[in-house]
Amino acid sequence: MKQAAIRQEISESNLYMKVCYTKTELTQEIARLRRETPALEGATPTLGFVPTMGALHQGHLSLLWRARRENDIAVASIFVNPIQFNNPNDLKTYPRNLEADLKLLEPLELDLVFAPTAEVMYPAGAPIEHYDFGALEQVMEGKNRPGHFNGVGVVVGRLFKLINPDKAYFGEKDYQQIAVIQELVRQLQLPIQIVPCPIVREDDGLALSSRNLLLSDENRALAPNIYRILKESVALAQGGATVLEVKTWVEAEIGAVPGMALEYFEMADGVSLQPVARWEGATHVVGCIVVQLGGVRLIDNIRYR
Ligand code: AMP
Repeated sequence: MKQAAIRQEISESNLYMKVCYTKTELTQEIARLRRETPALEGATPTLGFVPTMGALHQGHLSLLWRARRENDIAVASIFVNPIQFNNPNDLKTYPRNLEADLKLLEPLELDLVFAPTAEVMYPAGAPIEHYDFGALEQVMEGKNRPGHFNGVGVVVGRLFKLINPDKAYFGEKDYQQIAVIQELVRQLQLPIQIVPCPIVREDDGLALSSRNLLLSDENRALAPNIYRILKESVALAQGGATVLEVKTWVEAEIGAVPGMALEYFEMADGVSLQPVARWEGATHVVGCIVVQLGGVRLIDNIRYR
């Protein structure tokens, strides 16, 4: 179906929430909501915001339910942000289905969904901001996906400035991203509280991800090995294994699963994201992993202490 026809169908459906496609519509609607929504607590209504790239699943919905529960106004965005993809094939194959997403959102009774096109977010000729996230972007996702965090910073920064949320909700599945967003908010001096939310998993342990849709049946059956190995590695650490022993063990175990290629596994400080070499003196350690499986990039993490 053509974009215009999809929009027509959406606007004729009985959706509680308003869907905006342009910045003008969005800012007008936000102003109206702020004016007309009664505040449950305090003098002014609070606005909770969840940015997503669509192909929504229960992981996204957990963030959205929380934003709905904790705020007078709840807003989501659905936008596959081209400038955060360093791999053109990943961008091309990324699942997109706005109609199905909006259907899934219906029971949440959000106030507003912003679903811009790339032309709306990136008007031709307008310069792209450049952020410096320092050491945070020199490891893991930042190191392996050049330009990725700048792309994330640009889109989230623009969305924050348009929407002005009081709180914004992010999943701990993208652990490093939360640290980058906290730094973004600090640099832009925006009064937004960043709320980290726990990872939602399938019953078999696989972290929910839009990219899981791209796994073949065979690889879908293998994918839960990632979380199994992470969990077993925590038990290993609790049993006295050193950081290096845990790291080496995870690398070997992932390597032993047919078709799995380890992109990285890092034991990182939970705040600075820098590599941790020993347990002594480390109070917050997170093991962050990316595995390639049949051309699909799977990300996960687990906390050791
Ligand atoms: P994405 O659409 O992948 O950009 O994700 C949008 C938001 O949903 C990000 O803050 C993600 O970290 C979060 N998210 C994605 N998958 C999960 C999950 N399985 N559990 C919790 N949060 C998630």
